[in-house]
Amino acid sequence: MSLRYDWCALARSPSRLIIAGALLTLAVTTAVARQGAPPRAALPFTVISTDARRPLAASLVGETVMVSLDDLAALFQLTVREDALAGGVTVGYKGRTVIVTAGQALASAAGRLVSLPAPPARDGRRWLVPVEFVSRALGMIYDARLDVRKNSRMVLVGDVRVPRIAVRQESSGPQTRVTLAVNPRTPYTVSQDPSRVLVHFDADALDVSLPTFSPQGLLQSIRLSESGQTIAIDVGPRFGSFRASQAALDEGGVQVTVDLMPAAAEPAPPAAPSRGGLPALPVPPLPDIPTPSAQPAAGGLRTVVIDPGHGGEETGAKSATGVLEKDITLSLARRLKALLEGRLGLRVLLTRDGDQAVALDDRAALANNSKADLFVSLHANASIRQTVSGAQIYYFAADHAGEDARRTAVGRHTLPTAGGGSRDIEMIPWEMAQLGHLSESGLLAGAIEEQCRDRVRLSPRPVLQAPLRVLAGANMPAVLVEVGFLTNPDEERQLVSDAYQSVVALALVDGLLRYREVADLARPPQHALPAPASEPVRRGP
Ligand SMILES: [Zn+2]
Repeated sequence: MSLRYDWCALARSPSRLIIAGALLTLAVTTAVARQGAPPRAALPFTVISTDARRPLAASLVGETVMVSLDDLAALFQLTVREDALAGGVTVGYKGRTVIVTAGQALASAAGRLVSLPAPPARDGRRWLVPVEFVSRALGMIYDARLDVRKNSRMVLVGDVRVPRIAVRQESSGPQTRVTLAVNPRTPYTVSQDPSRVLVHFDADALDVSLPTFSPQGLLQSIRLSESGQTIAIDVGPRFGSFRASQAALDEGGVQVTVDLMPAAAEPAPPAAPSRGGLPALPVPPLPDIPTPSAQPAAGGLRTVVIDPGHGGEETGAKSATGVLEKDITLSLARRLKALLEGRLGLRVLLTRDGDQAVALDDRAALANNSKADLFVSLHANASIRQTVSGAQIYYFAADHAGEDARRTAVGRHTLPTAGGGSRDIEMIPWEMAQLGHLSESGLLAGAIEEQCRDRVRLSPRPVLQAPLRVLAGANMPAVLVEVGFLTNPDEERQLVSDAYQSVVALALVDGLLRYREVADLARPPQHALPAPASEPVRRGP
C-alpha cells in the first residue's frame, strides 16, 4: 500500500523519531487505547437513496461514531461472518469482501487496505465499526456510491441530490431577512400558505444547518419539513408579505433571500408561487437590509491564529524546481487572513508575517496568549514518490504517554507535585492542552475536508490524526493542513499559482464557517482542560 506521510511536519517532531509506518501504528494504538469505554447512544443517521429514507442507529465509543455491522447488513444486503479464531469479521457483498480485525484501525476492502479512525468494537454480540467504514470500505465493494455526511448525520447512496443549505436570519428595523446559501445550485420554488413561507427544493433530501434565534413578531421558526425537501419559514402575527430574490454564489451555489415584511408597513401583495425564486409580482422598493457579508463574528468565533509552517533557514519541503514550502505557506496564510478579516470580520493573527524561524511551541503559545478560538497551521507536503498528491487535514492524536497523562489529569484532577503528594490541577503540562479539544478539532478537520471536496485535490484519506508537536500545546480546536505535495509536478504548478491559492483559501474560509455551524449543533457537554497557568513544560531538544 502507499502510505502518505507528512515529511515536513512529522519528521521535525522533536521528541520522537517518526517514520512512515509509525503514523499507521500510532493511529492503531491510540484507537485501541480509547476502546475501554462502553458505547453510548448517539444521534442516528439517515440513509438516503433515490427511493427511500431509512434510519441507521449510531453510538459513540470514546470519541468515535460507530454503527453496527448487523444494521449495515440489513440495509445493504450484506453477509457478516465472524471468524472467532482470527478475531475478525468478514463482510460480503456480491462475492466481494471487506475484512475487519479486532484491535486494528484498518479494513481490507476487495484486497486494498483502507484506514479507519478506530478499530471495530464488540458490543455484546454485535460488532460496531466507525461510520467511515461505510464510505471508505463498504464503498469499495458496493454497487453504488456511498457518501457519509457525518456532521449532518446522513449516508447518501448512489446519485442522490442532497444540496447543502446554510440558513441565516437577521432582523433590521421592521424587516426580517432569511438567507439560504444553497450548494450546489438546485431548482426551487417559493410559495406561501397562511402561516408559512415555503422554499421547496427539487432534491432527494436537504443537508440543512439552521440558525438559532428567538421567535419574533414576523418570524416564529425556520425548520425542515417532514418531507425533507422543503424549508418552512413559520411567520408570526405581524407578517404581511414576503419578497424572494436570488444571487449566484461562488463555486456554483445560489443564495436565496426571503425578506419578510410587516403587514402594517405596507399592503400585502398576494404572494404567488414563483419559480426560480424571482418574485411573481412587482413589489414596491424597500430599504435595503445590509447584506451579511460583513456580519459580526457569531457563534463564539472571533479570533483565529494562522500558522504559516516553517520560515527562515528552516525552509520545509522543496520542489524539484526549488519552490520552498515556507514561501507557499506564508503566501497562503496572508490570503486566508485577508479573507477572514474582510469577509467575516474576524481578528486574525499570523504566527509569522515574514521569513523568520519560529519555534513550534511558540506558535501554539501565540494562539493561547491571544485567546484564539481556532488554530490553523498551514504546510505543503513532500514525498519520495512524485505521484503522491492531495491535501490532508491533520488533527492531534496523543501517543500512549499522552493518553495516560490525560486520564490522570482529567480523571482524578490531581497531579503529583515535585515534592511528592499531589495537588489539584490548575496547572497542566503544556503538551496536553490540545487533549481537551480533540473532538472539536476533529469536527474542524471534517468541516474543512467537506468544504475542500470538489475544489481542492484531496488525498484518498484526507483526515488524519497524528501526534504533531505544533498542535499539542494549542488550547483550542486546532488543525494542520497539508495543502498539497510540492514533490508532485502538477500540484507544485497549482500551489504556486494565485488562482489555486485563492481556491484553497476560500475553501478554508468555508471550512471554518461550516465548523462554526456544526460545532454549535454538536457541542458536547464535555469539560475542556483548564488553560495552562504557567510556563509551558518543554520536552525534547
Ligand atoms: Zn511543513
